Amino acid sequence: MAELETEGVSRRGFLKVCSLAAGAVGLPAWAGEKMAEKAAGSAKPPVIWLHFQECTGCSESLLRTSAPDVAELILGLVSLDYHETLMVPSGYQAEKSLEESMEKNAGNYVLVVEGAIPTKDNGIYCRVGGHTAVETAKKVAAKAAAVISIGSCASWGGIPSADPNPTGAVGVDKVVTGKPVVNIPGCPANPYNLLGTVLQFATFGTLPALDGLGRPKFAYARTIHEDCPRRPHFDAGRFAQKYGDEGHREGYCLYKLGCKGPATHANCSLNHFVEMPGAWPVGIGHPCVGCTEQKIGFRVPLHDTVDVERPTAPGTYPPIHPDHSVITPAVVGASAAIVGALVGAGYVATKKITADSEKHAGKE
Ligand code: SF4
Repeated sequence: MAELETEGVSRRGFLKVCSLAAGAVGLPAWAGEKMAEKAAGSAKPPVIWLHFQECTGCSESLLRTSAPDVAELILGLVSLDYHETLMVPSGYQAEKSLEESMEKNAGNYVLVVEGAIPTKDNGIYCRVGGHTAVETAKKVAAKAAAVISIGSCASWGGIPSADPNPTGAVGVDKVVTGKPVVNIPGCPANPYNLLGTVLQFATFGTLPALDGLGRPKFAYARTIHEDCPRRPHFDAGRFAQKYGDEGHREGYCLYKLGCKGPATHANCSLNHFVEMPGAWPVGIGHPCVGCTEQKIGFRVPLHDTVDVERPTAPGTYPPIHPDHSVITPAVVGASAAIVGALVGAGYVATKKITADSEKHAGKE
């Protein structure tokens, strides 16, 4: 803690970020205090961070957080022993740091991987220090306590695996075996989802409950559509028809512009980026691209619509941004519950059916 205070991080800010991290993994507030105690102690959880096929956007997203400066806190909370884009050493010195951390912390460190792993042609499309990504991932994972794949590339291949996937890019869990692998997809992934997972493991020695795709349930159990602030407009059948039209300016639902929120599991609508309210794709007027879903992100064209998994209106409504509409949640709740769900879902279903029949007619 003293070290963090020297760096200008207040005790209050430190506790706040730990509480946020605890909340992000679905733990009670006291868990945040425990995390803060543990992280402020002398033995910080060691982390080794590898980069493969990616744009470093997940690291960038982590470094752009502010108020409190999560990047600074994360760097103070864990012992980040190896991170190719943040560490000072390079070349042989960097490789030495990696080897030393692996030996010293064997069986205890958390391996974070950012980027997909190319497997085609013996993995020659990504080499660091003369070793392929496959070799390095296997070697470093072998001595890790747990492996976290940060971002869509490391989780399931992401952009590098888009058709025709020229390098045979896959997610880490297709290469690393015999270790628990947590997938935190997102392009970029939300830093709090990573922080919460790492601190839970460091404090309690457990990993969050995972879904069938290895994603923490605390962040990926619900679709974006379920918690979207534009959901009342969807239920009421109010859609932006094109970018910049009146509906778009009023903050209407973006489904007709290709929003993948109804089929995308993630907590982007609840945990915005860089701690800036509204800083997420739908928040700034762009349809969700489905980046956390292997079958959607970078595969389904941007403006194609997806099937709506749960078309009925929720029992409660999130508020509509006051700048975007004069309609209050209460009014929308009362009217949309009866009429809106039917209009919205019926409209969408009709459009899908029409589009599907047109597609089939075109094929025949
Ligand atoms: S379709 Fe997209 S913009 Fe519309 S309510 Fe669902 S997630 Fe929000």
